[in-house]
Amino acid sequence: MGEVGRELSNNLCYNADYQIVDFIAKMTKIINLSSQIKEQLPTKLVNFLHAAGEIAAKQGQKLYLVGGVVRDLLLKQANFDLDLVVEGDAINLAKQLTQLKQGKITTHPHFGTAKLQWGKWSVDLATARSETYAKPGALPVVEPSSIDSDLSRRDFTINAMAICLTPDHYGELIDLHGGRDDLEHGLIRILHKKSFSDDATRIWRGLRYEQRLDFQLEKNTLKLLKRNIPMLDTISGDRIRYELECIFKEKSPEKILRQAGELGVLAKLHPSLKGNGWLAGRFRQARQLSSPDVPTVGLYLALLAYPLTNEENKQLISHLRLTKSQAQTLRDTNSLKDKLGPLADPELTPSRIYSLLHSYSAPAIIANESASDSPITRRHLQLFLDKLRYVKPILNGDALLKMGIAPGPHLKEILNCLHDARLDGKVTSRQDEENLVKRWLDKEK
Ligand code: ATP
Ligand code: MG
Repeated sequence: MGEVGRELSNNLCYNADYQIVDFIAKMTKIINLSSQIKEQLPTKLVNFLHAAGEIAAKQGQKLYLVGGVVRDLLLKQANFDLDLVVEGDAINLAKQLTQLKQGKITTHPHFGTAKLQWGKWSVDLATARSETYAKPGALPVVEPSSIDSDLSRRDFTINAMAICLTPDHYGELIDLHGGRDDLEHGLIRILHKKSFSDDATRIWRGLRYEQRLDFQLEKNTLKLLKRNIPMLDTISGDRIRYELECIFKEKSPEKILRQAGELGVLAKLHPSLKGNGWLAGRFRQARQLSSPDVPTVGLYLALLAYPLTNEENKQLISHLRLTKSQAQTLRDTNSLKDKLGPLADPELTPSRIYSLLHSYSAPAIIANESASDSPITRRHLQLFLDKLRYVKPILNGDALLKMGIAPGPHLKEILNCLHDARLDGKVTSRQDEENLVKRWLDKEK
């Protein structure tokens, strides 16, 4: 609906009779999404949204559902990540809303935001705000404002829509930037020409939505995106890392990296990185090999950084301010890469495989397995992951002490030998292990 139309309906709906409302709806193409909300969101959330809108209205505030969930409602894609914006005071309203649900509330008074959590649901609530950027890449200066200004500060038209939750306009779509049209035409479009220079993280975000939704960057948006690639230098490592982490949570991050490689965006992370077919193959392989307990972000990062030298790896770690464990995964992956030679020996015993691999984390091993061309190496790495890393002897230090072994380095050595014997299948029961220890003791006498 156009701005004039919405203004008209805002002013008239309160008192007008049904026919006038209906007439305006037709003239201004008011789109009401209340049935989509009902169909696509769980009943508990729908009830919450109704009640929240009513409570806000009682306080003289207007409440809206905004951003990704609106986009996904229109796309008929599941998204229960609710973002609410209130023209008023989000923290105050959030406190009122906790009375609806016995949930947890977290507030950030500095940002005027609050999070409500109950059971498996979580809802973010923010005060409608406008933003101004003192300089490119800086965090914006924010001020309480109207829903219109709040939507105008957003990244793309498809993310800049809202649905009114206040009872007399419940379900009405607010689409001031043509987001619905762009959704229909599969286009990612920025709201104004300074968008990428104000906040260059939108470059990565744009590529992410383009690939996720199988959309295209609108012509002018693409032109400005390319022109503003140097502005990525104005963004802190933490913020870029966050965008990368979001990318690695997508279904096919390799598609985003390929596009980022072609456009020259990837080179801004490190000039030696490539988003090529090799990487795509490794990512697919890694997804097959990985298990839910392996941190995907670390694994993908390790594969992306795989072709880098030690020195380049360090540069990437510091540029992206990687977390301790991500940095460790990259270092592990790199150092294991240099040890793959011995692992290609078909005669390796399980205990030798264990000794070569036990100090490396699972993501580093999976990264190397995904990257290795040797079937034997891959088999050895997989054997370690599936089996060898879990093998332990039954006898522990206490048991050995009880059997008469003196404490000290010797005891540790015997434990290691027992472990090797277990790995190589030379002992398979407690009795076997005790016999082995006894034989050593006899030999020493
Ligand atoms: P996703 O499904 O990826 O979570 P989303 O649309 O919910 O998509 P979020 O990153 O959760 O995206 O952000 C919520 C909303 O905040 C976006 O829809 C967008 O309107 C706005 N937003 C987020 N990051 C930016 C940014 N860098 N610049 C402008 N608006 C942004
Ligand atoms: Mg989101």
